[in-house]
Amino acid sequence: MNWLITGGAGFIGSNFVAYILKKHEDINIINLDKLTYAGNIKHLESVMNNPRHTFVEGDICDAELVDRLFDIYQFTTVIHFAAESHVDNSINNPQTFIQTNVLGTFNLLEAARKSWMKGIGIYKEGYQSARFIHISTDEVYGSLGEKGLFNENSSYAPNSPYSASKASADLIVRSYYHTYKLNVITTNCSNNYGPMQHEEKLIPTIIRKALALESIPIYGDGKNVRDWIYVIDHCRAIEMVFFKGRVGETYLIGGHNEKTNLEIAHEICDILNCYIPVQKNDKEITNYKQLITFVKDRPGHDFRYAIDDSKLRNEVGFVMKNSFSEGLKKTVLHYLKQNTSYIL
Ligand code: NAD
Repeated sequence: MNWLITGGAGFIGSNFVAYILKKHEDINIINLDKLTYAGNIKHLESVMNNPRHTFVEGDICDAELVDRLFDIYQFTTVIHFAAESHVDNSINNPQTFIQTNVLGTFNLLEAARKSWMKGIGIYKEGYQSARFIHISTDEVYGSLGEKGLFNENSSYAPNSPYSASKASADLIVRSYYHTYKLNVITTNCSNNYGPMQHEEKLIPTIIRKALALESIPIYGDGKNVRDWIYVIDHCRAIEMVFFKGRVGETYLIGGHNEKTNLEIAHEICDILNCYIPVQKNDKEITNYKQLITFVKDRPGHDFRYAIDDSKLRNEVGFVMKNSFSEGLKKTVLHYLKQNTSYIL
């Protein structure tokens, strides 16, 4: 079985590639990634010598390349992670978000449709169970107030160019089911944390700034709430949706773990204070928490996201494995081990 994974050199994609290769010996992965600033070939060190993994450096917006890969490898599965994913960048440079997240997704859907189907709802021989999983975000639903949860029936209300581009892609994916009966499923997940996340994101930034004894920037008053899930739990949920999910459906994936950004910063500082107590320094810092600094909020910053994942649990039987305190400790230790100056 040949699976096309897009964006497999990024944070979630690289965790997913390693997870699937280890767990399923009958799956070959062709990993298509453009290696933008967010992708890193080093994330794939553990799988680069695996004969069931083939890395292709390329752009999902390159329709010729994507078609050629479908011809050569005759994929029966697409798991589509590739995206521009950082909200702050989407405010400064929205164009690449529309290009990759919208047009790139469209390209992949077209390639799958042409490769798998000979008419509306009619699959070519050998492709009857071919399936396309589109990985999306809970940010497409906009912002919640103090109470309430997103579910699969929540209205789309994206507030940033990032979430708008992901919402657009979700709708195109939906249309390929309703129009062509292409076997698609969309997953909308909350904030991920874990190894291999780009240093620009909240948790790696807090760790990096703390270790450098620099200000830890927290937007606004730090009270924005996100629901956090350990990346491997997200990978397990995608795997379960692939094997057990219903065609044409969407599934929300969450961590049952709402935290304010300030709470996240405090918890990371607690772990660091325990493993790498602050050394004597001329800034007179004795606890990493002293570095927390509130900075001007970003425009369109959603107040709160939270997920009702009962459909995922009831239909595919998903059960979370990593508690937040365990997952966060593993994550902090991962980043500490990457930094050779810290001997643990
Ligand atoms: P990431 O930014 O770490 O990785 C994205 C990967 O896509 C990178 O390796 C990059 O090189 C690649 N890429 C970008 N443009 C490409 C293109 N045009 N062609 C081929 N490859 C390209 O992102 P991530 O955090 O791993 O997120 C993966 C997916 O999951 C995204 O679709 C994102 O919207 C979604 N998601 C992420 C989170 C999260 O908390 N990180 C939560 C929910 C959903």
